[in-house]
Amino acid sequence: MKPHSTARGHRRPWSVRGKLPGQPHPNTSVRTAILGGGISGLTLARKLREAGLDVAVFEAAPKIGGLCCSESVDGWTYDVAGGHILYSKEKPVLDWMVAQTEGGCFQRERHTKIRVGDRWVHYPFENGIGDLPKEQTFACLMGYLEASYARRKGGAAPTNFGDWIRYRFGEGIERIFMKPYNEKIWKTPLQEMSTEWVEGRVPDAPIEDVVRAAIGIRTEGYTHQSIFYYPKSGGFEAIVRGIGAGVRDAVRLATPAREVRRKGSQFLVNGELFDHVVSTVPLPEFAKIAPELDAATRDAIERLRYTSLTSVAVGLKHNDLPPYSWIYLPQHEQGPTNRITYLSNYSPNVAPPGHGLILAEVTSAGAPRKDAAFLKEVVDGLVHAGLFQAGDVAMTHASAVKYAYVVFDLDFRKKIDASLAGVAALGIDTLGRFGRFEYVNSDHCVSRAFALADQLIAKAKRGGAPTAGR
Ligand SMILES: Cc1cc2nc3c(=O)[nH]c(=O)nc-3n(C[C@H](O)[C@H](O)[C@H](O)COP(=O)(O)OP(=O)(O)OC[C@H]3O[C@@H](n4cnc5c(N)ncnc54)[C@H](O)[C@@H]3O)c2cc1C
Repeated sequence: MKPHSTARGHRRPWSVRGKLPGQPHPNTSVRTAILGGGISGLTLARKLREAGLDVAVFEAAPKIGGLCCSESVDGWTYDVAGGHILYSKEKPVLDWMVAQTEGGCFQRERHTKIRVGDRWVHYPFENGIGDLPKEQTFACLMGYLEASYARRKGGAAPTNFGDWIRYRFGEGIERIFMKPYNEKIWKTPLQEMSTEWVEGRVPDAPIEDVVRAAIGIRTEGYTHQSIFYYPKSGGFEAIVRGIGAGVRDAVRLATPAREVRRKGSQFLVNGELFDHVVSTVPLPEFAKIAPELDAATRDAIERLRYTSLTSVAVGLKHNDLPPYSWIYLPQHEQGPTNRITYLSNYSPNVAPPGHGLILAEVTSAGAPRKDAAFLKEVVDGLVHAGLFQAGDVAMTHASAVKYAYVVFDLDFRKKIDASLAGVAALGIDTLGRFGRFEYVNSDHCVSRAFALADQLIAKAKRGGAPTAGR
């Protein structure tokens, strides 16, 4: 989607309302209700406000940010939905987000590894198989060659993720990394998942690189996100705080949208009249507050699957961390954690001086856990993985989010198309990671918010009803 054409990383004063030079006036009497004050809702509010439109943001939580929130406890700061980095392929979006960030950003180089036994394996795994014990290197290489040979003979690629892994990577990589890691993160039988999300997310190494890796010649394999940004202080939330600063007066905190219904060509949100509604709240939550949704849409939304997440911050008494950004933990004996972020390598300001902070991510299919027994299980797993000693731990703290990852099960496409069509039929626009059940990062949310704002502003200028009508 094309970013907003005026996003150039510089701020426009908030007092700018209505006419921009050479442009027609938008209809400033149009009132838009934005449901949800995460990065999607706040960015949209900013852009509409900058064009002189009237917005109100309903946010259920006592603070803005949603999945981009960070938590600060006794001098430690961590991101509540796992380790976040700021990165975008769209330079105007990246520049805008960096420019918004309260207190500015550090620029960092990505170093990622996979922990297998006591070894650090280069990421992506196919480019790191030479880092494994020789028997495992052999099994991975042999399987990769066999899979590649079988593919050349033709035949359609499997459409379920579980079978696709074997088809794409072969038995060795499947057994040692892909299957255990993906089972840990998705909490869903892999044969029940589709492959529609893998492109651009599961690296795809050429066979020459895998052979090179096996005999010890280093190949990079993955240059995506090689440089990223992270706020200097305040955690990832500093980005949304900067974005939200310009629309503070429009944001209603601790004010959930409890009911949305039509009134003629307008809408009532909690009984208040608006011309237009954009929902960024997770679709299952939206279904609860939209009594006019038809039964088929409601049913499709109810069947959408997702995982929840617990983020466990582990504060260490020292800051002697390996030089990594984040690492993957595929093995069962490493405990329930699938990924660790070395957060104090992003910013030293997230931990008290002389201390280190790492962040463990654990997904769940049901209610996420935060109890003491669970935290002990997480820490014991990390100690077992050789990441630190039990006596190094200075503090643990956990946060949970209900909606973390969209699960792309086999009938996902059918369900999501029906869900979005049903909401659109009410005349309501949707935006955001769970507002549309898309596997998107915060930069994609910003880019999509820019694009939607453009459409709504254009409509308002024509004097028509503002619904983007996607
Ligand atoms: C584990 C993990 C790692 C990630 N890593 C990265 C990363 O490294 N980089 C990156 O850029 N992105 C990353 N992301 C993605 C990023 O967090 C999301 O794409 C982004 O934060 C989604 O923003 P949103 O505004 O669409 O949704 P949300 O942040 O979910 O916002 C929705 C808002 O709606 C509110 N709400 C819910 N119900 C109601 C109601 N009834 N009324 C009013 N408000 C309501 C919620 O409180 C919330 O604030 C990651 C996500 C996860 C889970």
